[in-house]
Amino acid sequence: MTIHVSPEACPALVLNADFRPLSYYPLSLWSWQDAIKAVCLDRVNIVSLYDTVIHSPSFEMRLPSVVSLKDYIKPARHPAFTRFNVFLRDHFQCQYCGSTDDLTFDHVIPRSKGGQTTWENVVAACAPCNLRKANRMPSEIRMFPHQAPYHPTVHDLHNNGRAFPPNHLHQSWLDYLYWDIELEP
Ligand SMILES: [Zn+2]
Repeated sequence: MTIHVSPEACPALVLNADFRPLSYYPLSLWSWQDAIKAVCLDRVNIVSLYDTVIHSPSFEMRLPSVVSLKDYIKPARHPAFTRFNVFLRDHFQCQYCGSTDDLTFDHVIPRSKGGQTTWENVVAACAPCNLRKANRMPSEIRMFPHQAPYHPTVHDLHNNGRAFPPNHLHQSWLDYLYWDIELEP
């Protein structure tokens, strides 16, 4: 099977110097231009290549599909408090009814009652549950999140994220995405 791809469809997966992705969420990808630039500046090693070749009058090269940094970057230990990361922590499920549609945020302790916008007080909730709960305390309306909201580590999010891989994964990336899965005892 031959697939004709344009260079634009050829992002490079960027690995840290330890061959783990520089980040998972979002997955660390560089455009082919950035990847080539980094190769020319000698900042990365080419780990794997696409079949796609780019040409210029003086220059021809296959585009890298996986590169690894020459210098190790210490990964962040605490994930950013973002919409995506809250959903990821909560498995993209409403914490009240389990729905995966129409997700929003709910403040478990309502803001009007002093609840803050923090990892410990915000959960994924579908719009209908959010509307139903409104400004009430969990005990008033008997709506409790399935999982008490918590401040996840990067490791927690990595583990959850494996169930939600990005929908486009080049074959050459797979070896580097899942090899640090913890083994079942
Ligand atoms: Zn719901």
